[in-house]
Amino acid sequence: MASFSTITPIEYLKGVGPNRAEVLKSELGIHTFGELLQHYPFRYIDRTQFHKIQQLQPDMPAAQVIGRLIHLEEVGERRGKRLIGHFKDDTGAMELVWFQSIGWLKKSLKVGAAYIIYGKPNVFNNQLSITHPEMELYHPGAKQAGNMSLQPVYSSTEKLKKFMLDSRGIQKLQAALLESIAHHLQEVLPDYVLQKHRLMPLPNALVAIHFPRDRQALAQATRRLKFDELFFIQLKLLKNKLLNTQKFRGHRFDVVGRRFNTFYSKHLPFSLTNAQKRVIKEIRKDTASGAQLNRLVQGDVGSGKTVVALMSMLLAVDNGFQACLMAPTEILAQQHYNSIKKLLGDSIASVQLLTGSVAKKDRKTIHAQLEDGSLDILVGTHALIEDSVRFKNLGFVVIDEQHRFGVEQRAKLWRKNHTPPHMLVMTATPIPRTLAMTLYGDLDLSVIDELPAGRKPIKTLHLYESSRLRMFGLMKDEIAKGRQVYIVYPLIKESEKMDLLYLEAGLETLMKEFPLPQYRISIVHGKMPVKDKEFEMQRFIKGETQIMVATTVIEVGVDVPNASVMIIENAERFGLSQLHQLRGRVGRGAEQSYCILMSGQKLSKDSRLRLETMVRTNDGFEIAEVDLQLRGPGDITGTQQSGILDLKLADLTTDQALLNEVRNSVIHILENDPKLTKPENILLREYLTESEPTIAWEKIS
Ligand code: ADP
Ligand code: MG
Repeated sequence: MASFSTITPIEYLKGVGPNRAEVLKSELGIHTFGELLQHYPFRYIDRTQFHKIQQLQPDMPAAQVIGRLIHLEEVGERRGKRLIGHFKDDTGAMELVWFQSIGWLKKSLKVGAAYIIYGKPNVFNNQLSITHPEMELYHPGAKQAGNMSLQPVYSSTEKLKKFMLDSRGIQKLQAALLESIAHHLQEVLPDYVLQKHRLMPLPNALVAIHFPRDRQALAQATRRLKFDELFFIQLKLLKNKLLNTQKFRGHRFDVVGRRFNTFYSKHLPFSLTNAQKRVIKEIRKDTASGAQLNRLVQGDVGSGKTVVALMSMLLAVDNGFQACLMAPTEILAQQHYNSIKKLLGDSIASVQLLTGSVAKKDRKTIHAQLEDGSLDILVGTHALIEDSVRFKNLGFVVIDEQHRFGVEQRAKLWRKNHTPPHMLVMTATPIPRTLAMTLYGDLDLSVIDELPAGRKPIKTLHLYESSRLRMFGLMKDEIAKGRQVYIVYPLIKESEKMDLLYLEAGLETLMKEFPLPQYRISIVHGKMPVKDKEFEMQRFIKGETQIMVATTVIEVGVDVPNASVMIIENAERFGLSQLHQLRGRVGRGAEQSYCILMSGQKLSKDSRLRLETMVRTNDGFEIAEVDLQLRGPGDITGTQQSGILDLKLADLTTDQALLNEVRNSVIHILENDPKLTKPENILLREYLTESEPTIAWEKIS
């Protein structure tokens, strides 16, 4: 598009003027020619079909008739006042009725002329009628709007309608706009891309999306415009990624050395899954290349991300670097530390834990060991990023559960060596592939899409309040086997007091049903002091209590393999991804685990779908797809900065194939011409220099 025309203020369009411009801005956010052009129809009315008056039925959604306006009369008084048009064709007669704009209609309608009318037929007092029909003069044989097979329908508002900007009014503006700028519209994609993907040229697509000749033209126009929306997001992301790889040289890990190999052959208590092996290979390949590693590892809960992180860190240590792992909470850091210590034993590498509660004296020792290089691996919380923590040679950083950390915190870790360390971000939040490509298109993505062998899939049940006794029975059976149980209550800020009441009431019943001394219960909720929370968590982790009653503060990633039952109260109030995360707290050992979703009898359609999905599948990615369909991308972390919310036509849930095609196309272009200096790519280069590239890891949220 020629920029002079797309950024021209909307008031310069013929037929707009200052008043209409004002409502277009306030109601639809349309300030410019370009924005109006992108106010695409949201549906089309098929107008190939004409009906005879005799065929009209009140149960038809809408009909189109050619006939003659015989006579106009005004009837009724005040509020009952209306204009009636008598309308006839060769099969019968009917009435057209208007309650508004009567004066204007009386002046503009031509009695005696032939019209195409369109609207919903009604029968009132045995009289067939259409209220507020769309009217157009009929010229046999002439090409005119009323002859369009597909008529665009635009979203409008009551306020806009007061300014005659209903769908039809907007359609007229679009026609005027296209007429005045049609010759200035320019192609934005190189010719060879158009050819290869058989894309309709942009100017044609913009005309056809508003005024399609037929279904086929509409389909082509839609595909072309969706292609553009996805193409330019991908081009920006992938170009940035390329820039970063060139800009930031990374530490080169030349060898796979003694520690990595000893660990692999002597210490690893299980064999790695193929998915774990693949991801470790991907990391190995990145770090051997001399480029900066910037990789997101996605793996469902329990897929074994920790050992992947550990082996990557050993690779760094083998090459003379230090590594660190940062977790979002103290409990998680502690758990990582314990499991890493256990896996490594004493001989492979030195490991320390640094959190806010480490005593000053011990902290000093750790600082000193970090600076003289005698400490290989540091595990910790935010405490790691404090300025006083200085490494001799930090080469590899792992960040667990990415969504809890902000950009600034990552940046601080980044700066802890003059050459930035490699960055591995691990997340258990499954993101549908399409969304991941759009959100993290500038990070490399590894997916651990396989659970360790021998895990029994968690059995999920949905029970109503009336089956509470069954739930108690299942709890007792499991506890009798020596297992532990979580019970989670929703806690949503606006209704915090009510929610705590629920929790307390539930607790009372529970204590009667599970009395001391046979049963012991831990309680954790958001209103408790941190120290008490941790004390209670530890009692449960150590197996001193069998039941953990909690609000959603149950830590992301807490690993208590002996816990086999997850009960979620008021499950209908949780989102799908939250339910899935909570369920992931169990099913970590080889025994059968259960997830019980308790709900009230009355469920909304969405709640029912959420609960059914949970019962049907354990697959985090499948769940994420349903979640995306239910909530749309707007609610999923990280979407705000990604540009995907600006998508007008493309839909990430239904356009996955197109997104793949687009992404491959962009990859191909950049492989052949990384700097976009070849003459055939001039349009793309111009596009990029007009928009600001950002650096890769700032995209993570
Ligand atoms: P997450 O991906 O949720 O962080 P963890 O790394 O905590 O998962 O691993 C979950 C559990 O599975 C741990 O107890 C871990 O020791 C175990 N585990 C990891 N990989 C394997 C494997 N390949 N085979 C068997 N057990 C494994
Ligand atoms: Mg984990």
